[in-house]
Amino acid sequence: MTDETTLLESVPAGLLIGGQWRGASDGATVDVHDPATGDVIKTIASATSDDARAAMDAAADAFPAWSRTPARERGEILRRAFDLLMERADDFALLMTLEMGKPLAQARGEVTYGGEFLRWFAEEAPRIAGRYGSNPEGTGRVVVSQHAVGPCFLVTPWNFPLAMATRKIAPALAAGCTVIIKPATLTPLTTLAFAALLEEAGVPAGVVNVLTSSSASSISGPILADPRLRKLSFTGSTGVGIKLMEQAASGVLRTSMELGGNAPFLVFEDADLDAAVDGAIAAKFRNIGQACTAANRFIVHESVAEEFAARVTARVEAMRIGRGTEEGVEIGPLIDDRAVDKAASLVADAVKRGGRLLAGGAAVEGPGTFFAPTVISDVKPGTELLREEIFGPVLAIAPFSTEDQAVQMANDTEYGLVSYVYTQSLARGQRMIERLETGMMGLNAGIISNAAAPFGGWKMSGLGREGGAEGIHEYLQTKYTMTPDPFA
Ligand code: NAD
Repeated sequence: MTDETTLLESVPAGLLIGGQWRGASDGATVDVHDPATGDVIKTIASATSDDARAAMDAAADAFPAWSRTPARERGEILRRAFDLLMERADDFALLMTLEMGKPLAQARGEVTYGGEFLRWFAEEAPRIAGRYGSNPEGTGRVVVSQHAVGPCFLVTPWNFPLAMATRKIAPALAAGCTVIIKPATLTPLTTLAFAALLEEAGVPAGVVNVLTSSSASSISGPILADPRLRKLSFTGSTGVGIKLMEQAASGVLRTSMELGGNAPFLVFEDADLDAAVDGAIAAKFRNIGQACTAANRFIVHESVAEEFAARVTARVEAMRIGRGTEEGVEIGPLIDDRAVDKAASLVADAVKRGGRLLAGGAAVEGPGTFFAPTVISDVKPGTELLREEIFGPVLAIAPFSTEDQAVQMANDTEYGLVSYVYTQSLARGQRMIERLETGMMGLNAGIISNAAAPFGGWKMSGLGREGGAEGIHEYLQTKYTMTPDPFA
């Protein structure tokens, strides 16, 4: 693994526009911090509206040639990118830990997960298919073909700096689209390093453009208003997603929206409690609770709620908190002060309304933005953290008595990203598949993300799917051509 200083120096500090790395048109910059120390770790370019227009020009100019590049060739470039990423997995993991804070072992896991999208879509590119058939009357032939949508604008969040980028860039490039990607201002370095890797893998100039900026709206405005843009793919909060969808409406853009979650985690009286506790720890504390898929509400049968709470509390009390680069750390810092304040206020509200604090409950003294892993049981109806996405290491348990009540509690949210269910009853598991209003479900499984599966939400958790056989279709549009009966 490269040492921290050399690694940070190797990351480009500019914008990537049309194959050129350059500073912002007005010379503006933005600092990137290590949330574990508060230190500035790199200063990078902060794009302006003019830079956004230049990136749009580059993506539009590169589109005709890239969309006509043979699918096999596009796939092989993605496969080379996968190989390069695997060779440099340790460096990418360290970079994510430095800018985002997650423990190194989890960052390494993200490199594996994020890399799989490159390999998966390298394999999907040559499988873009159409069909040919007769109309029922026999008077004509119906030809159905798939075409790249066009230049795409990709906006990603700070919590999975690599995987959220590869989950969009890989299917876009596989389909023949060109992209402008705007990583989160808090964690842009991984995307910059990854864009440099893509150049090395053979991605032509203008196919991938990167804009980093301290003002997201000043670059998204001109791009979304440009008639050459054909697609917006956004991952982030529901509030920002709605704003961007409104802007995308004027250009009738294709949109993919991976938004917020409020995942219920159901533990039935017939669950294997050891498995449920393992699943709970993974679903709650991975990424320091800062995942859209993080279990937000533990809905546990009253007969096992005490036992479940005691077991997760024992596991939480043994967790090591610290900078993600340190050996054995499971809980790194939260992303910033706002995240710490939010966790503290949600815990205070839960306790005020009668919840029992079993572990943690407070910020850990700095430097860095740490919050102790927390368990609260007997969470009362009406408590804020049952409605809000916690996005921190707070495990909240609410008891239930009947299956109908559990389902009602689980579905009582405007979100519908993922649910988790622990039961040993096959029939109950099947009933949950049919009754829970979420786009994804972990049935006796605490981690569900996989490049081969269609990731995405129902209700206000989003539109469209990333990964799986579905993922590439977000970047393809269908054409139907009628031709006459050739024998007539
Ligand atoms: P966010 O919505 O604040 O920001 C997401 C991205 O949008 C960032 O790049 C940000 O700079 C940009 N942005 C913000 N305002 C913008 C504007 N006006 N115009 C254009 N771009 C703008 O979200 P976040 O805090 O970075 O991420 C956390 C959220 O993301 C959580 O709600 C989480 O659930 C969600 N998330 C969802 C998924 C999923 O797949 N469903 C995955 C990861 C995170």
